Amino acid sequence: MLKHVVILGATGSIGESTLKVLRQHRDKFSVLALAANANWQAMLPLIAEFEPELVAMSDADAAVQLRAAMSRHHPQVRLEVGPDAVAACAAMARADVVVAGISGFAGLPSTWAAVEAGKTVLLANKEALVAAGDLLLELAQETGARILPIDSEHNAVYQCANGMNCDPDRVRAITLTASGGPFRTRALDSFDAITPDEACKHPTWDMGRKISVDSATLMNKGLEVIEAALLFRRSADDVHVLIHPTSSVHAVVEMVDGSMLSHIGPSDMQVPIAHALAVAHGELARLPLSVERFSLARVGRLEFFEVDPIRYPALPLAYAALRAGQRECLVLNAANEVAVAAFLTQDISFTKIVPIVERALEDARGPAPRSLSDVFALDRETRERTARWVDQFALDRNGKMVA
Ligand code: MG
Repeated sequence: MLKHVVILGATGSIGESTLKVLRQHRDKFSVLALAANANWQAMLPLIAEFEPELVAMSDADAAVQLRAAMSRHHPQVRLEVGPDAVAACAAMARADVVVAGISGFAGLPSTWAAVEAGKTVLLANKEALVAAGDLLLELAQETGARILPIDSEHNAVYQCANGMNCDPDRVRAITLTASGGPFRTRALDSFDAITPDEACKHPTWDMGRKISVDSATLMNKGLEVIEAALLFRRSADDVHVLIHPTSSVHAVVEMVDGSMLSHIGPSDMQVPIAHALAVAHGELARLPLSVERFSLARVGRLEFFEVDPIRYPALPLAYAALRAGQRECLVLNAANEVAVAAFLTQDISFTKIVPIVERALEDARGPAPRSLSDVFALDRETRERTARWVDQFALDRNGKMVA
């Protein structure tokens, strides 16, 4: 049976990988809607190729440009504008599968809409879960929405555990691997000089800039620990992280009988996406995929190291937030997004990202958000507060630290 797929973040790295998979399986999936933020130039050829019913652009100016280009070639395609239109794509009545591929907190409204509509959600948008996981999972229980992780490590856990059930009566612990990013061996005293381009040069994965910086600090792994704890319903103590430079092993699940099941494969997001699409389809065991064959002989040696908390202070910070609760996790994420953006615009140095997040967490005390509007209010408040810390830590024009 043909399943209808909605892709949120169609022009980003997850969208691109999803479309690569769908191109190989047009008899099993059709693209119902595509949503993106502002990259209308990348959207235009996708419309021609996949002929979706609906296209949503979050950015109004980009939508104007796209409309002008589309009206000549694709008069039948409906184009809607604004973040609400993106969320509306996620809730389309005919959508069977929604790929939540928008990066950051910006993806929360549409991920929420998909869960609210009871869809099967292929979740890459880890920040939505970090910021509002308790509420999102509660909502999924109410609506019957199914969340399938496509973050590579979490998808690997799913495959090793043969589903989402990682209950303590079968699973003892979960280990997520981290490549260690581009600065695993760089001299610590040169970290102040790290440029955004250096931080975005990931050794094993090709991804967007925000997640690449998160991978360099290891905050990405911190967010993933929170994501894993929420999705697989385990405590911080049961989710471990190991540095594994080649990213060949994506996760290890330790069963109660001592078996260690691990997922090995290429560092290609098509692999977890194809797995989750097959599960979502319901009538397929696996989707054959033409990706480069992975060779263990070529890798040769599988190395694992404990995480050095001096080199990667973001990871202990994320564990602390997870242990503290949902409010702290939300603050961690919001402050990190602000700090990473400030690093990418070269307003702060690389080494200030984590101290800024730490400052934000220090005044995070208060009740956990009880509703989506609480979540948005706390996110906004945290961003404003963090922006003030960024100003204090900002570089002056000569590149010297002001504070
Ligand atoms: Mg990942």
